[in-house]
Amino acid sequence: MALVINDDKCARCGVCEPECPSEAIMQTEDSYVINTTLCNECVRFGVPLCISVCPNDGIHETKESLYKQCLSLFS
Ligand code: SF4
Ligand code: SF4
Repeated sequence: MALVINDDKCARCGVCEPECPSEAIMQTEDSYVINTTLCNECVRFGVPLCISVCPNDGIHETKESLYKQCLSLFS
């Protein structure tokens, strides 16, 4: 599971990249992307750090990650 960066909202400010404890956020030639293999949704912090620092609401949880959270409430 992982989060995704909405390219339409991302201002390419780079604030999220150094905040990621898993080094999952990378800058490409013209955008920022989240490596889905490395992102663990910041489970040990209780909140995705990248979402908390993004000034443009450019990072979102996927349907799959929300479904996983929902299941965990009932397990
Ligand atoms: S903090 Fe938000 S706007 Fe800035 S690069 Fe990351 S996703 Fe894009
Ligand atoms: S949720 Fe956490 S681990 Fe995943 S990209 Fe954001 S800061 Fe990195």
